[in-house]
Amino acid sequence: MFVYTEEDIRNIDNLAEKNGLSSIVLMENAGRSLFQKLVSYVKKDDRILILSGKGNNGGDGIVLARYLKQNGYYADLSFPLGAPKSEAAKHHFAFYKNSGFLETAEYEQNHYQVIVDALLGVGARHPLRDDVKNIIEWINGQNAFVVSVDVPSGVLSDSGEAPIAVKANVTISIHGYKRSAFLLPSSSFYGKKEVVSIGLKEEGKWKVWTEKDVKQTWPNHPSFSHKGTFGTGYLIAGSDEMPGSVLLAAKGAMRAGIGKLVIGTTPFVAGAIAGQIPEATYFFEGLIKAGDGEFPEKLSVCAIGPGIVPGEETEKAIQSILQNDWPVVLDAGALHKRTYPKNRQHPIVLTPHPGEFSRLIDQPISYIQKNRIEAASKFAVEENVIVVLKGQYTVIAFPDGTGMINPTGNIALGKGGSGDALTGIIAAFLSYYENKKAAVANAVYLHGLCADLFVKTKGVRSMLAGDIPDILPEVMKRFE
Ligand code: ADP
Ligand code: ADP
Ligand code: MG
Repeated sequence: MFVYTEEDIRNIDNLAEKNGLSSIVLMENAGRSLFQKLVSYVKKDDRILILSGKGNNGGDGIVLARYLKQNGYYADLSFPLGAPKSEAAKHHFAFYKNSGFLETAEYEQNHYQVIVDALLGVGARHPLRDDVKNIIEWINGQNAFVVSVDVPSGVLSDSGEAPIAVKANVTISIHGYKRSAFLLPSSSFYGKKEVVSIGLKEEGKWKVWTEKDVKQTWPNHPSFSHKGTFGTGYLIAGSDEMPGSVLLAAKGAMRAGIGKLVIGTTPFVAGAIAGQIPEATYFFEGLIKAGDGEFPEKLSVCAIGPGIVPGEETEKAIQSILQNDWPVVLDAGALHKRTYPKNRQHPIVLTPHPGEFSRLIDQPISYIQKNRIEAASKFAVEENVIVVLKGQYTVIAFPDGTGMINPTGNIALGKGGSGDALTGIIAAFLSYYENKKAAVANAVYLHGLCADLFVKTKGVRSMLAGDIPDILPEVMKRFE
């Protein structure tokens, strides 16, 4: 399922127009698809109010109203912001009237079971006019099931900014999701997210990564595969104060199927964790040795960061790692401003949470959350790295401007250490996947799925980061 910007939508509409599919036709398709989706949410005797704006979003509402009426539903169509202005909407309003249907000038308080919000779509701008604000407040005050068309009115297409907006139970987006469905706070106004087709080809640079995508990109390994096939990972992590992070990342990597794991850490940390992960081997003082260009042999991936403290020593190690062309994962203590080499064959993956990303791009967290997709993508393109911007709807941005949004995971992951486990899983998948984009996306997807599976039977607050590697085998089995 694809995620579009306002500009994408305008381009798609223009292309369709050039091919003879006028906006009148697209509006007809949108209204019909909305009707087909809406009827699965309403009862035949529900009283439905469609509130249409003056633009194309309102036009979709007009067509929807016509289909509802033609099919015997109780549907009232009203224009609280004024008569239709867009050409296609005017055309469809004329057709609506010629079909024998009327506009409802005055609508009653608390009379409707269902309200369809077709006021503002991707053409909306902030600040909202007062008449729009008033009608949004009126909708939010009604005891009705609210269905928004394309975006909840008050929410923009591409930014998470939403000082006031319709609180929808369901939002039915046309042709694909809009970015605001995955930004903050806008996503909280959407309710359930649905998408309907208007008959156009589905393609785009950004997509929501789904179970189907994981299945399609899941690697198959022949039975004669061996530990060499799955590669050797090198995890530089942990300090005497933060020994647990190593264990979480290491277990994540091993449960995710890496062939061999070497842990570069302090002798103290190694002593503290060795009994809990007997499968790993150790490279003492890995951080210091990396700075001097010393690494274990035949690596297929290197991950650095969990539980290490930033500083000169760390930076020296990272610079030396980046000179080697392995896939690299940089997390936590390894996330600092620097420039990245441009001519590498293998990817560099950065896994910041919004606070870490805020330091990388010198923007407040509030800005990042409202513009997660744009900000991560810009950084990925400019720095030639893969950015995994964590949090609800983790954004995975690639250097070529494409990206994915992860739908799995929940607040059970809001616990110290859950990111460390992710670092290990990403490293493992990078080690043995041919398709490196899918490696990162699948790691993020599965990590979230562990939490989703946990909360199906247990409380959201009691999950531990250490549960992630324990649940992972069950989650992996779904795709094997
Ligand atoms: P389109 O541009 O495809 O017609 P929409 O139906 O989403 O898209 O939105 C455009 C309509 O919304 C226009 O009529 C515009 O005047 C109105 N509109 C946009 N922003 C605001 C706002 N802040 N307050 C009131 N009306 C707005
Ligand atoms: P730590 O450094 O303590 O390991 P991070 O902040 O680096 O923690 O990572 C937290 C992990 O939990 C990330 O993968 C993030 O996406 C995930 N996460 C946190 N809160 C949520 C949420 N509400 N929904 C989905 N995922 C979440
Ligand atoms: Mg972290």
